[in-house]
Amino acid sequence: MRHPRTVMSAVVGLGFGLAAALGTAPAIASSAPAAAPTASDARAGYTTYAGSHENAAANKAFFEAVAKSVAKKQAANPGAQSVTVVYSAANAPSFRSQIASSAQIWNSSVSNVRLQEGSNADFTYYEGNDSRGSYASTDGHGNGYIFLDYAQNQQYNSTRVTAHETGHVLGLPDHYSGPCSELMSGGGPGTSCTNPYPNANERSQVNYLWQFGFAASLARSTS
Ligand SMILES: [Zn+2]
Repeated sequence: MRHPRTVMSAVVGLGFGLAAALGTAPAIASSAPAAAPTASDARAGYTTYAGSHENAAANKAFFEAVAKSVAKKQAANPGAQSVTVVYSAANAPSFRSQIASSAQIWNSSVSNVRLQEGSNADFTYYEGNDSRGSYASTDGHGNGYIFLDYAQNQQYNSTRVTAHETGHVLGLPDHYSGPCSELMSGGGPGTSCTNPYPNANERSQVNYLWQFGFAASLARSTS
């Protein structure tokens, strides 16, 4: 258990990561679906599945944005024992089953945060063609999205890709050098890796990040 002061220091670090990411995040491709946020949006977080755009700071910025969005809802219901993150799958109709499986996998793996499909979503799934593959991104102002690339989801196990990108929503960074048993190793272990489940370490990391009160304190310190 870390002292609260340590958590606050980590939050300051996230702010620097956000500033750094703002200067380096690539613009969204014109092949992104029309419904996706436009290229003119400020983009703080950006990370792909296969490792060509690894950016740990962007992952943290993405988590920060999602956590702040969730914290607003949590503030209205301070007695809740776990945090619910609401997603929309309406703009990724080809991946409905993978998105549902990903949510089920995460909900059965961790206890401090719950994924739920619904309106007034904290983050949204999109689908389309992008040569850079699948990724997680954010506008840095409380809204995130996950883009699922058609070609990559045929090359790699689609449920693993979806659960991996969703892992970024829950605060996990990429670790491409890890084994197949690790979800956040993403495309690192190659196309033969089909494991869609987070390992024990990844589960405890997410439970730590979403332990009661964390999202609320993060929002207070960074808003
Ligand atoms: Zn990733």
